[in-house]
Amino acid sequence: MDDFRYLSGVTTLQLEPEACVGCGMCENVCPHGVFILEGKKAVIRDLDGCMECGACALNCPTDAIRVTPGVGCASYIIQTWIKGREAAACGGADT
Ligand code: SF4
Ligand code: SF4
Repeated sequence: MDDFRYLSGVTTLQLEPEACVGCGMCENVCPHGVFILEGKKAVIRDLDGCMECGACALNCPTDAIRVTPGVGCASYIIQTWIKGREAAACGGADT
């Protein structure tokens, strides 16, 4: 999915390297290969590949990742049309 893109520079994804323990979960669960482990730390190798599904943040054991559903989440956008912004959620993420 390396060719997958929404809009450039709009994702809310943030990584706090100091909190990362290098477990590799984010690399494993991300459907778009956004993360890669370098040494014992995760790094964001493809920020604009993030579609804000929230899987990485939900699975990170140290809360080193923050991501808020937004314009990058297709599910979220559709739900805002149907249910309104208040009730919409992105990929089950509650962040
Ligand atoms: S899931 Fe969290 S702790 Fe594990 S490698 Fe990714 S950022 Fe680091
Ligand atoms: S929010 Fe989803 S697409 Fe974005 S980096 Fe995390 S797992 Fe990958």
